[in-house]
Amino acid sequence: MMTPDDLVITDLQGRKLSGRRNPSSELGMHLLIYSRRPDINAVCHAHPPAATGYAAAGVPLNKAILCELVLSLGCIPVARYGTPGTTELTEALEPLVQSYEAILMANHGVVCYGQDLLSAFFRMETTEHFARVSLVTELIGKQVLLSSGDVEKLLAARARYGVQTASSIGPDCPVTADGADAERITLTRRELEALVDEAVQKERSRR
Ligand SMILES: [Zn+2]
Repeated sequence: MMTPDDLVITDLQGRKLSGRRNPSSELGMHLLIYSRRPDINAVCHAHPPAATGYAAAGVPLNKAILCELVLSLGCIPVARYGTPGTTELTEALEPLVQSYEAILMANHGVVCYGQDLLSAFFRMETTEHFARVSLVTELIGKQVLLSSGDVEKLLAARARYGVQTASSIGPDCPVTADGADAERITLTRRELEALVDEAVQKERSRR
């Protein structure tokens, strides 16, 4: 139901410059992103159902299962919950704003940003699309992760595709096949029993 004259213009301190309505209660979130990221000119905040489902589950979209996502956003973390319209919410986002361009907001929704309005909006589309793809792999019960070598090649290809992003890639972002394997351990039944016995002995000797 919005029309252009519903829009409000404020300065970067949040003081209203023009418009007949009041600024959004999430003005603080927008100002935080503009102040921390001079390269950003547009912020898009929404509650798309699949990505918001991940946010409500506290599960980041951080696995290297789709080449397009590695290329464009790297991975999408979850910011802890903060009451909407308060500094709790901006404090939760703050540590993530510098290194990502799409963030799941726990028990709330998603925020994405970009050089212009269309790129911010498309990042929101990409996030929701990826959340749906990820959900399908979870329904199938299997995810085949790309290797860290595959991820490196995609990062090297960012320039070729003209991807402008500050999204950082670290050891756990995105989680690759070798990263996930490094976390996995295999035990025989005998080894497991020995570990349990040892823990029980320790507990008994403490009493
Ligand atoms: Zn919201």
